Order: sequence, then C-alpha cells, then structure tokens
Amino acid sequence: MKNNGLADTVKQTDFDKMGAELYRVVSDLFPICRSITGDGVRETLQYIKKVVPVELHEISSGTKVFDWTVPKEWNIRDAYVKDSKGKRVIDFNKSNLHVLNYSIPVKKKVSLQELQEHLFTLPEYPDWIPYRTSYYKENWGFCLSHKDFEKLKEDSYEVFVDSTLQNGYLTFGEYFIKGQLPDEVLISTHICHPSLCNDNLSGIAMTALLAKQLSNADLRYSYRFLFIPGTIGSITWLAMNEKNVSKIKHGLVVACVGDAGNFTYKKTRQGNAEIDHVVMNILENSESDFKLIDFFPYGYDERQFCSPGFNLPVGCLMRTPHGEYPEYHTSADDLELVGAKNLAASLKMCFTIVNVLEENKKYINQNPKCEPQLGRRGIYRHIGGHPDSRKFQLAMLWVLNSSDGHHSLVDIAERSGLQFGLISEAAEILAAENLLKESVG
Ligand code: ZN
Repeated sequence: MKNNGLADTVKQTDFDKMGAELYRVVSDLFPICRSITGDGVRETLQYIKKVVPVELHEISSGTKVFDWTVPKEWNIRDAYVKDSKGKRVIDFNKSNLHVLNYSIPVKKKVSLQELQEHLFTLPEYPDWIPYRTSYYKENWGFCLSHKDFEKLKEDSYEVFVDSTLQNGYLTFGEYFIKGQLPDEVLISTHICHPSLCNDNLSGIAMTALLAKQLSNADLRYSYRFLFIPGTIGSITWLAMNEKNVSKIKHGLVVACVGDAGNFTYKKTRQGNAEIDHVVMNILENSESDFKLIDFFPYGYDERQFCSPGFNLPVGCLMRTPHGEYPEYHTSADDLELVGAKNLAASLKMCFTIVNVLEENKKYINQNPKCEPQLGRRGIYRHIGGHPDSRKFQLAMLWVLNSSDGHHSLVDIAERSGLQFGLISEAAEILAAENLLKESVG
C-alpha cells in the first residue's frame, strides 16, 4: 500500500472535528475591534498564539517601507452619537462596525446636517451596517443601517469617538516551520478587519489551524505563515525581508474561506507557476464546481507579493471572492454567513494543496533509451494488484516517458489526464525500483 505521507496524518473525521474548532476560533475572535494597527490586532494574535506559537513583531509608526510609511497606531474604547435626550442612537458597544475604522477622536455637538456628512449607510440593504475605513485620510464618522439613518430627526446630537491615533506600532504575526529544504511556502492572511466573519476571520482561523496541523508533520518544504494587516502589513513584511524572499517558491493568500460558495483560485501574476498548476489540478479533480481567475492588481496582499519588483509565485484562495457576495463588508458578514463545514472543507483544500506541493517532485528516467522491461523487474506485480490496473500501467508509462528532469508529477498528471495520486504512486514504485531518480534543483 502506498504511503501517502502527509495525507495519512489526517483523516476525514479529523477534518469534521476541525470544522467545529475553526468555527470556535471565528466566534471567539468575532467581538474584537481590529484595524490595521492597535490592541485589537494584538489581542487577536495573542489568541492565535494559543493555537500555534506565532511570533509577534512590532514595527514603529513612521518607519519607511518602500513608498509607504507605517501609520500611527489607532485604538478605540468607545464611540456613540447621542440625541438631545441623552439616548445613544448609534452605539459602538452594539457593533464595532458603527465607527468609521481609524476614526480620529471627536467630541462635539452637531446638527443633523453636519452629522449626516459623517454617516455611511447602504440604502440597497437597509438592515445592514456597512464597514468603512479611513486609514490614510484623517476623518471621523459612523456607519449605521439605512433604516436607523432614516429615523434620525432634526436635533442637536452629541458625537463622541473615544479613540487615539498616536505614534505606536504596527503589529503582525509570523510562524515558521523548518522543513528539509530552505525553500519556503508562504501562506498569508489579513487580520485587520473588525467583526466580519468571512472577510477574514475565516482566513485567520484556517491559516492558524493549518499551521498547527503542519507543525507536527515531516515536511520537505519550510513553511512561513503571516498574519498581517492588509496592504501595509505585506508591504512592511516585504520591506523587512527583501533579502530572503527569493526562498519563497510557492505562496497562497487565504481569505473569505468560510461561506458556502465554491472555491475560487486567483492565479499568480506569473500565471504559470507551480502553485497555479497544483491548485488547478486539485480543483479540476474535485467533485465541486470552481472558478479560476487570472491575476489582476486588485484584491488582497497578492497585490504586493506579485508587484513587479517581487513577482513572487503567490496565488489567492477564496470561496466567493471579495465584493461578489452581498454581505461583503457589512454587518451581515456575521457568524451565520460562515459554517463549520465550509471552514473544514477549506482547511482540507489547503492541506491537499500542501500535500501535492510536498509530493510534486521532478524525476529523471534512469533507463531512457526505449522502455525498460517492467516484467523482468517484477513491476507487473504492482500493476496487477492495483484496483485500476489498466490506468495504473498507463500512469507508469507516462511517468517514465515524461521524467526528463523538466516535468513535475503535476505536469505529468495534467498532460496524461490521470489523477495526481495515481501518477505519484507510480513514481514511488519506479523510484523504489531505481528506474527514476529525483531531480534536485
Ligand atoms: Zn475586506
């Protein structure tokens, strides 16, 4: 029986159990008010630290990172709008989405008209609170449902945002697993959104549990996990690690992986990277529908990893892409939008991607002049005993014919139309019989 290596370390029942754990992580982190900097991010990372020992990095405000500057640190304790009777008509304590994220401190009396200039609503979804930010332009504001907005009457309102925007730090988390090779697989997720589940507590929970799972495995590649604020986090990390990024051979940005939608894979800027072929091969052989999209310079941190000065082979795995589900960036991206089952299936998908990357070697046929005589080597014994012997024999012939040091097992699976598992199994037997030698480098 073939040893599946990494795949054998987890069973389907384990993934089912992990669904509940993933959902618990999402629920536990849901109430925290996060932003691109501040205590919400620290609290989130301290929580993740209990799942997997991430290292926290603190980068001072004002630090130059390429064309950007690490911003001032934002923290918030309370925010409200009170009417003249002292009733809180908008209350940060009810939902942290009510405050414009990165809102500067304010305490003043305003008319309805002035207040309205600082309010954000979604008329097309009148029950939902939108999520809005103003990181790089100092402003104050509140977000509320359009329904509540329409209830506001002429009055004198007291607005209060008890926030601070001061020199401090940008915080991010990093976790590294050393494998046999110095070559790295990068897995990155954004941690800057407040109480929104799919975007991106789903990505945070999934990345943390994947890291935990891999931390006990015997791995060929080294793995680097980043828990970073969107955009400024990846820019900062790249600025600090410029000398080491050449070690990154494959990468994935993970976001929006908890909803019920099918998987979406956004290809790397290179478009033809090994990670692209690996993910496409897995999706094409899965039973569910999926969507492939070419790289475009919008979205998550793949924008920075795939900027032309780096051009790293980093793709992006999502279910329904950002902006394509109505709940996106609203209060309806809540604990009901994401499900334990979806989260577990996303974790399994990432685990499968890792497994194929680990096994996707290139070999060199040691008997390339005409076909080797398989019978003489007792290889038909393996073929005859296989549940699909005809396909397995074909897999052996494909592996022998294509193993010239240039084609990986995924390339061979793609070209032959045979399952990766079958190709990999054939390669393992042929290597054991010294008909293949791994091509290194
Ligand atoms: Zn978002």
